[in-house]
Amino acid sequence: MTRARSDAGRTTVWVLGDQLHRGIGALAEATPATHRVLVVESGRKLSSAGWHVQRAHLIVTAMRRFVAELRAEGFEVDHRLAATMGEGLAAHRAEHAPDAVVATEPNSHDARLLLARLGVPTVRSDQFLTHPDDFAAWSAGRKAPKMEEFYRWQRARLGYLMDGDEPAGGRWNLDADNREPAPDDAATRWPAPPRDALDDLDAEVLAHLARTAPGCWGAPPDGTWATSRAGALARLRHFVAHLLPDFGTFEDAMTRDSWHLAHSMLSPYLNLGLLRPREVCDAVEAEYRAGRAPLNAAEGFIRQVIGWREWVWCSYWRDVPGSRGVNALAAHRALPPLYRGERTEMACVRGVLDDVHAHGWTHHIPRLMVLGNLSLVAGVEPWALTEWMWHSFVDGAEWVMVPNVMGMSQYADGGRVGTKPYAAGGAYVDRMGDWCADCRYDRARRTGDDACPFTTLYWDFFLRHGERFARNPRVARQVHAARALADGDAVRARAAEVLARLDAGTL
Ligand code: SF4
Repeated sequence: MTRARSDAGRTTVWVLGDQLHRGIGALAEATPATHRVLVVESGRKLSSAGWHVQRAHLIVTAMRRFVAELRAEGFEVDHRLAATMGEGLAAHRAEHAPDAVVATEPNSHDARLLLARLGVPTVRSDQFLTHPDDFAAWSAGRKAPKMEEFYRWQRARLGYLMDGDEPAGGRWNLDADNREPAPDDAATRWPAPPRDALDDLDAEVLAHLARTAPGCWGAPPDGTWATSRAGALARLRHFVAHLLPDFGTFEDAMTRDSWHLAHSMLSPYLNLGLLRPREVCDAVEAEYRAGRAPLNAAEGFIRQVIGWREWVWCSYWRDVPGSRGVNALAAHRALPPLYRGERTEMACVRGVLDDVHAHGWTHHIPRLMVLGNLSLVAGVEPWALTEWMWHSFVDGAEWVMVPNVMGMSQYADGGRVGTKPYAAGGAYVDRMGDWCADCRYDRARRTGDDACPFTTLYWDFFLRHGERFARNPRVARQVHAARALADGDAVRARAAEVLARLDAGTL
């Protein structure tokens, strides 16, 4: 195609699908007069995995709405559907011959390698509050940096919930106040999440997915997940107005009566760039300062964003790519069929998987203490679970899944991200959830046909890995208790039965 005269002297900003904000990195300084924008949808990426359809729909629709917003601002946007990202860029260069193509530092290791290979320079990303270089400088010289130290550093340097040099209320961390089980009125206590009516673009994307990504699964989108910045901001306002006061207290609770509880469900928007971490933390702190939200809620939320989320982000860059292949507990079981939809009589697992199927989302405790816990105590290959979670949740991304699943949930990194294995028996699930009363299994039993699989596998886990964890101060007591069991042999025998049924899809 002939190059248009107006193309001369224009730089292309290549915007990736999880950088959908006008103010991030390379796009921040761009103007319609000086820059063109390139957005590439990779067909291979979409068709390569069994994505939850709500996740695929969210990403593709959000990209297309962002393209429309940039065009409305006056940008010329080259929006390409290509087999691969590289082919999309090559076609763009052939058609437009830009003087230069630049991008913001991508959020995944592979994407950074790809851009380097394609000769695309990047500018420093400010999508997160902490650049990995700054994290490296902070952690240099610390023997074993801890998330809590990092969090306090973040609080002080970013100025959240600080009264001078001291934390608001005199305590840095109010997590101990945030472990209540669900209240009796959980079914009606919180409003249903806002929904947007699906429009022509949603229908167009769903038709596109049906043609190009036949592996998609799960319930179709119902408008719960916003696909634009305006929609994401509306979700932020909803959270702050209706849910924030209860967020902290019931942060860890699980219940059949409410799939969302008082959770913000803002992570997909933060991860795609539709929201930025500062604006959500600013909104939450303002509620606290105005006396409309208690400190345990504001602190719990802000810790999730400036503490845990940024810690995970920086841990990813510290450890990748080696962190993908670790397997400290030598776990080699194939992903059990129940994760792929086979029915199970474990009421808690069935309930959580039903939520994932319906919404592509469940909060951090069902992820960690039900789905992750099951894989951990059963010895499932950690990368298999990581990929499954990455594909199944609307907020999935490699940077969040590798540290969270490989590291914290599966202990595959040997304790680099978390300092203990998050193994739990039926007693924990019963304390924080409400499935056990109607389950075919008995959460208090570890042997026999009715024994709760979590309880059996929990004890078996500490018997199998006693050597490794006997000197870990956070779980040494569990190892000691497992070794003291009078029925240890019967537990091992029952665990073998449970694992055989788990593999066969008959548990
Ligand atoms: Fe889950 Fe065990 Fe409780 Fe059943 S008894 S719901 S399997 S924890």
